[in-house]
Amino acid sequence: MEDRTERCLRLAREEHFCPHCQQQLSCCEAPPFHVGDGLGWGTDIIFVCLNDECSLYVKGWQEFEDRYGHSASCRYILCPGSEKGESMMVGGPNAFKGSEINIDTLMAQNARYRREKEAQAKLATCVAENNLEPVLYLLTDEHAELAVRKQACELLLQLKDLACIDPLRNHSFRNTDLEQQVNMTILELLKMLHRKECPACAEIVKSQAKTCKHCGQAL
Ligand SMILES: [Zn+2]
Ligand SMILES: [Zn+2]
Repeated sequence: MEDRTERCLRLAREEHFCPHCQQQLSCCEAPPFHVGDGLGWGTDIIFVCLNDECSLYVKGWQEFEDRYGHSASCRYILCPGSEKGESMMVGGPNAFKGSEINIDTLMAQNARYRREKEAQAKLATCVAENNLEPVLYLLTDEHAELAVRKQACELLLQLKDLACIDPLRNHSFRNTDLEQQVNMTILELLKMLHRKECPACAEIVKSQAKTCKHCGQAL
């Protein structure tokens, strides 16, 4: 199934033109509800003519003033998949501006999403392959799905790889639940492998060590 980002990217690459001024329409995020009827757009993306010189928009100010005596105008808008656009009332020149879809941002989001899905797919085989990488990737990607990150965390005890500790300790988790799970898992992993962290330098040493071999701290 096409996800939202892919759909936005596909639509943002479409070219549509305003019948009033022939300028290319901008691909924008639709406002949460339809100002005209309050019924919703049926779409999250709309194409809008944002040209301030557009005849529809320029004439609109005078027409609204004459007809209704208030300050407003119209922009030409087109919903994805429709042949014919419509006039949308706007209260000022900045309506819809700022909600333009930014292809670069979307591409970056899409690339991140793909990496998350790839890492998620690798979780099934990472223990057999001794591959810590997808687990670390998911645990340190704050945008990845929480359930998947928790699942990744559970695999740490099967991977038994102490190399996970530094990157996880250096990462700041926004979700305190996950942070706690990670901290508990690290402690369990150390215990399982008969290791401990030096309280002075944070290096990992044997559980039985009386002094830290890295900094000399008495343990
Ligand atoms: Zn126009
Ligand atoms: Zn130490």
